[in-house]
Amino acid sequence: MTARPWATIIAGLLLALTPPAAPAAPAAASGTIASAAGTQPDALLYAIFKQLVEINTADSVGNVTTAAEAMAQRFREAGFAAADVVVTGPDDRKKNLVVRLRGRGKHRPVLLMGHLDVVEARREDWSTDPFKLIEKDGYFYGRGTLDMKGPDAIMVATLIELKREGFQPARDVILALTADEEGGCCNGVSWLLGNHRELIDAQFALSQDDYSVMLEQGRPMFFKLDASEKVYADYQLMVTSRGGHSSEPGPDNAIYTLTRGLNRLAAYEFPFELNNVTREYFQRMAGLVGSQRAADMRAVVRSPPDPRALARLSADVVEHPVMRTTCVATRLEAGHANNALPQRAQAVVNCRILPGHSPREIQQALTSVLADAAITVRYISSGGQVLEQAPEQRGFAPPPLLPEVIAPLEQLVAEMWPNLQVIPYMSAGASDAVYTSAAGIPTYTFAGLAVDADDDREHGRDERLGVESFYRGREFFYRFLKSLTVH
Ligand SMILES: [Zn+2]
Repeated sequence: MTARPWATIIAGLLLALTPPAAPAAPAAASGTIASAAGTQPDALLYAIFKQLVEINTADSVGNVTTAAEAMAQRFREAGFAAADVVVTGPDDRKKNLVVRLRGRGKHRPVLLMGHLDVVEARREDWSTDPFKLIEKDGYFYGRGTLDMKGPDAIMVATLIELKREGFQPARDVILALTADEEGGCCNGVSWLLGNHRELIDAQFALSQDDYSVMLEQGRPMFFKLDASEKVYADYQLMVTSRGGHSSEPGPDNAIYTLTRGLNRLAAYEFPFELNNVTREYFQRMAGLVGSQRAADMRAVVRSPPDPRALARLSADVVEHPVMRTTCVATRLEAGHANNALPQRAQAVVNCRILPGHSPREIQQALTSVLADAAITVRYISSGGQVLEQAPEQRGFAPPPLLPEVIAPLEQLVAEMWPNLQVIPYMSAGASDAVYTSAAGIPTYTFAGLAVDADDDREHGRDERLGVESFYRGREFFYRFLKSLTVH
């Protein structure tokens, strides 16, 4: 999943907090593996983590199948029946692993989701080898430590540990470790749903593709539960004109036409709209922040929303996208010579679309906002194809916050991070939850990993995850999965 500007939201919280909401988490022994673990299962967790990080699974030169096979091997060795450990996919390099821990059949299964692929990482950009797990200064460094081989390792180790304990969950627990979440030919979740739905069909899905314990200088601020996502869409804006010698300019200029349209877009705001997740977000967040901001959050939840509160929150780069579809120009290209009139000008506009709306609908909105027939608006697919028509499929509506998920989550968060609030959130980033949600499987994303607001290095250089955060995240997941599936 992609990074978001948490520093801003947390800075706002810090300003508003009186007295401090939450004491720092009790410091566990930090640093070395030996002190943090000391037990066989943690040694296993570390070994799995290291193995995953050191198998390059980037789309360009990596191989997801190698990682899937390595994990499959571990499950078989741990006593999972061969039929419950399936490695499958449409491409030799992009096979997915699906494992089933058999339960008592009391409820429909729960699906745990993790992607095995990682974003590209070049040795020359990094301080360390991105495909070696390196422990240094209380952190694990390596591509995927956070996004998301750390969480993958936690899920694998937890399932193996439950199997060894002889724990029989009330429902089947399915783990799917998949290909191409970060892009590529063969998205594993989509492929499994389309070709082997029976392998991963579940009442609901839990993804760990985002950390939840939001820290500010080591202090936990809130626990973020992603329950909805915006839809990602790119559009190509294009203007062509006759061109000619630049010594004889006329009114027909592709650059001017395009930039006039872009200026209209810059001034435009998409309509205000809340859903059950964003409404809950504002209501709960209002309990954490102080004074004006809290009052504004409460005022926009009311119907109709207070226009002045709405204007203030809309001016905030973090809160603005919670309430509206956003479209912003991200690339611009025009002309072919310094001394020639441009024959062509084009821009890319990136949109993050609210649930319930389709890329087609936003394409039409852009056309009307740009308000110039000379500017064509086309859709750019995730594979980079430029299409006349954007897809009509709407972003999925946010799922209800299921009590069988939320109640044990809130209880465990209260036990592990006293006073920390669980805040439902609509992510502006896109993840595989889009596929499961579209298939009617409500999907919630959270992980008990703690990351400092200004230290989110997902997709970036020197990606890292705190050693203590990793082991605590594992403790969280182990306890959560047990309490979720014991009844
Ligand atoms: Zn991810």
